[in-house]
Amino acid sequence: MSASLEAIAEKRGIKYFLISYTDLFGVQRAKLVPAQAIDKMAEDGAGFAGFATWLDMSPADPDVFAKPDPDSLIQLPWKPEVGWLAADPWMNGQPVAHAPRNTLKRLVAEAAAKGYVVKTGVECEFFLTTPDGRAVCDQADRQMKPCYDQSALMRQYDIITEIADAMLVLGWKPYQSDHEDANGQFEMNWAFDDALLTADRHAFFKYMARSIAEKHGLRATFMPKPFIDLTGSGCHAHVSLWKGETNVFEDPAGELGISALGYQFLGGIMHSAEALTAIFNPTVNSYKRINAPRTTSGATWAPNAITYTGNNRTHLIRIPEGNRFEIRLADGAANPYLLQAGIIAAGLDGLDNERDPGQRLDINMYTEGHTVEGTKRLPLNLLDALRALGASDVMKERLGAVVPSYLKLKGEEWNAYSRHLTDWERENTLDC
Ligand code: ADP
Ligand code: MG
Ligand code: MG
Ligand code: MG
Ligand code: MG
Repeated sequence: MSASLEAIAEKRGIKYFLISYTDLFGVQRAKLVPAQAIDKMAEDGAGFAGFATWLDMSPADPDVFAKPDPDSLIQLPWKPEVGWLAADPWMNGQPVAHAPRNTLKRLVAEAAAKGYVVKTGVECEFFLTTPDGRAVCDQADRQMKPCYDQSALMRQYDIITEIADAMLVLGWKPYQSDHEDANGQFEMNWAFDDALLTADRHAFFKYMARSIAEKHGLRATFMPKPFIDLTGSGCHAHVSLWKGETNVFEDPAGELGISALGYQFLGGIMHSAEALTAIFNPTVNSYKRINAPRTTSGATWAPNAITYTGNNRTHLIRIPEGNRFEIRLADGAANPYLLQAGIIAAGLDGLDNERDPGQRLDINMYTEGHTVEGTKRLPLNLLDALRALGASDVMKERLGAVVPSYLKLKGEEWNAYSRHLTDWERENTLDC
């Protein structure tokens, strides 16, 4: 660290810092620290009772100390007197091995040890709803095919441009915003970068979109499927692999311009896709987006099987151009750090074991998927996905300590959901 954070605060007019870590369920946990106290706090870490968050700890455990990464500093564009710092949980003088950002940092280092940098871009779809989340905020946004609708986009101009302006100021290189395929749904895109930076930005983007929407009296939600008949919110991830200045996925002689190495990485993702689903689609609600029946717009745009293709949006993996591929599995609930960690873990396994992704399919998976034999379907619910993760030696080995912790906490979540008595059950069972 060069300049002290207190000195930076003085220069930039920061009065308070948020020392923020992301727990296993993707929730950001923070302490608000006055600039005058930040340097000591940055060195020691801010204290938290880990059990009070989704971090798989016991109430008897010693304090977790969240140590901020000074390189991650983001001055809140909508409240410049606050500086946000991504932090890494430590306990007993060691980084907490199963904490999401620590897990990602370890995998980034493992890729670096092989000479690689994984670069990714994420597409965070979200809905703008009424504050209670029960209805799309714009009553006039009712078209059957609302995607790219100019008027509905422009009715949210104030919110969308406040977020886009913020990204411009922060130097993220945003390049487009649009209305997506569901009523009330939007997407804003910024430039891809190193996986850890993308993860920090992804985490911050969610906080920023929620905060700015709230300021305007609305709610931004990344819930995967808030409205059952509308298209859900995905979080596609575009991936490329670099050695220095060279994108090693690129090979003009390879199929669709992708190198043999690129197909091995892709093969690694395909090999572990069932297990990754537990991480990329982490909520009960996630499974109403994937494997879903057609939405009112005509298509879900979400995958239902483990297949790859060229520029065709009905598969799990799409190769839009010869410089990257797109994983279309993850949804808005995915933990930004575990999403990237999962990609790197599966991708490195693909390289180490020269995983063969098989033949690409050029069919419409929604209408013709049933005609191909041997394609593996995605897990149908969170429990099946968790079981697939628990059965994956690749994920247990490469993601490491995060897997048992995640399985334990998510297993408890599944049990809590199963104990819940629903209206559907009453309607369909009272007269049994
Ligand atoms: P689409 O909607 O067609 O899937 P978007 O333009 O919404 O695509 O998002 C594309 C994402 O992919 C952006 O974050 C972009 O920066 C990223 N991207 C583009 N090229 C690469 C690359 N070579 N490696 C990784 N990510 C990339
Ligand atoms: Mg206290
Ligand atoms: Mg997009
Ligand atoms: Mg989209
Ligand atoms: Mg996409």
